[in-house]
Amino acid sequence: MKRILILSIFLFSLILLGIVYSTRFYSFEKETEDLSSEMPLETTTTTKEETVLETKISFSALEVYQGDTLVIVAENVPDQAVVRGEFDSQDLEFFSIEGKDKLFSLLGIDAKKSPGEYILSIFLSGELMLEEIIEVKKSDFYITQIVITPELEEKGLTADNISKNISTNDGVIVYEIVNKYNPEIYFNKSFVYPLDELINVGAFGNIRKDNGITIQHLGVDLDAEQGTPIYAINDGQVVFAGELTVYGKTIIIDHGLGIYSLYLHLSEFKASKGLMVERGEIIGLTGNTGWSTGPHLHLSVKANKASVDPLKFIEGFDIILKEE
Ligand SMILES: [Zn+2]
Repeated sequence: MKRILILSIFLFSLILLGIVYSTRFYSFEKETEDLSSEMPLETTTTTKEETVLETKISFSALEVYQGDTLVIVAENVPDQAVVRGEFDSQDLEFFSIEGKDKLFSLLGIDAKKSPGEYILSIFLSGELMLEEIIEVKKSDFYITQIVITPELEEKGLTADNISKNISTNDGVIVYEIVNKYNPEIYFNKSFVYPLDELINVGAFGNIRKDNGITIQHLGVDLDAEQGTPIYAINDGQVVFAGELTVYGKTIIIDHGLGIYSLYLHLSEFKASKGLMVERGEIIGLTGNTGWSTGPHLHLSVKANKASVDPLKFIEGFDIILKEE
């Protein structure tokens, strides 16, 4: 009887030891797994502090209004990796900026985009890395009356003719150009203002009405004396320089990655189609051509087919760059 008791205590101890051993083995195995996954990093020549940094994505906002531009920043992107995004079935490319070790992407929210929630996905070398819900809110754009002076009427620019011309001629010519996606990237700096002095006399997004005709103002009107120099807001290629009925003498610059700037109602061209221009270079002089009631510059910015508030686009990106 005593023997049986000793034997059972012995057997019990053996089982207990076995359990302890097996759990220790399991955790050890886990440890070796962890170690092996870190191993390649330790063999690289870069410092350990750099290698442990994970790719980080940040957004300038998670709530945007129609006409806003969202800035997306990617940090610690490995040299060989490709980061790209997708927003409402639209591709988003990232670009670098001189002096910054981060990558950036500009997501334009069209002035007419339906308010609601949209998914923004970020991919790192083809693998989904992040999904974020972006809420697009309705902007309260002012409703104003379409202004037609006797001089405009003399030129045949009545509200009816303006509306018809935009939808059949001027708008068609412009949208055919700005809706093209050019994967090239011509800029590596922030954007600048097109004039030395900014006097905003016609807000972005204004809805102008007259007798059942509605025209949304998809740019900003900047007051300027006749003949004031206009600067390119960034490096790019002049893809249009010509006179249109409603927009007057117009210049369009392609900055690459689906970003275009448009300068309307000029008195004179200082750049021609095909020319590569630099940020701050004089491309034309302000005027009063087309549907205009006095000398001014109308500036528009398109970002991936979206009509965005040009001043918010320039300022928003500049603020982010300064913070970085
Ligand atoms: Zn305008």
